[in-house]
Amino acid sequence: MIKTEQMTIKETNAKLVSLKAYGLNHNIPIIQDQSLIFLFQMIQLSQPKHILEIGTAIGYSAIAMALYAPYALITTIEKNPAMTKIAKTHINQFNLAHQIHLVEGDALTLTIDYYQMPIDLLFIDAAKANNIRFFERYEPYLSKQAIVIVDNVLFHNLSSTEVNSKPLKKMLVKLEQFRTYIIEKEGFDSAIYAIGDGISLSIKKV
Ligand code: SAM
Repeated sequence: MIKTEQMTIKETNAKLVSLKAYGLNHNIPIIQDQSLIFLFQMIQLSQPKHILEIGTAIGYSAIAMALYAPYALITTIEKNPAMTKIAKTHINQFNLAHQIHLVEGDALTLTIDYYQMPIDLLFIDAAKANNIRFFERYEPYLSKQAIVIVDNVLFHNLSSTEVNSKPLKKMLVKLEQFRTYIIEKEGFDSAIYAIGDGISLSIKKV
């Protein structure tokens, strides 16, 4: 099964495989193959015109989505200037600057007027402790039947009760709160899937 998924990504674009290797070699956390395939599937089903990604890193997932959905505009927000510099280089190498709008800033405080271009697919892949805040900040800009996908919601299947490190425990408590929040969230049908590092999918009810 994993072999098939890796082949799928290979077939999508050989350059993308090199970009993935760059991320892994530089210890930059990027989306896992299974989760990327899940994103592709949701893109295929929902045909989003506008995707907002929170957490660009080196640009891997933004580039993968852009290649998969050439009709979609992708806005991707990254707060680390060192990362945006690298992501910009990669986006240019793939000739995707016309399709990927890279915004440098903190997605929690940044103000962009999304009312002109509602978000059809929101992909949250940034600081894991802030998932609820990201969700609430961008919820007003979601289109009618928007999809929200959040990565790493199971975080290595760790529980806050079984770790000693205080920062890790704090983050895991926040993730546990997010999982309850997303399942109970009114106005959305949500589920959590054990794909990759755990993915939540929320579909806005009409
Ligand atoms: N989506 C990328 C991929 O799969 O190729 C990986 C993103 S990486 C897991 C998370 C990124 O989110 C980091 O580069 C980090 O700097 C960024 N980040 C964390 N908090 C953020 C925030 N508040 N606003 C924007 N970016 C943030």
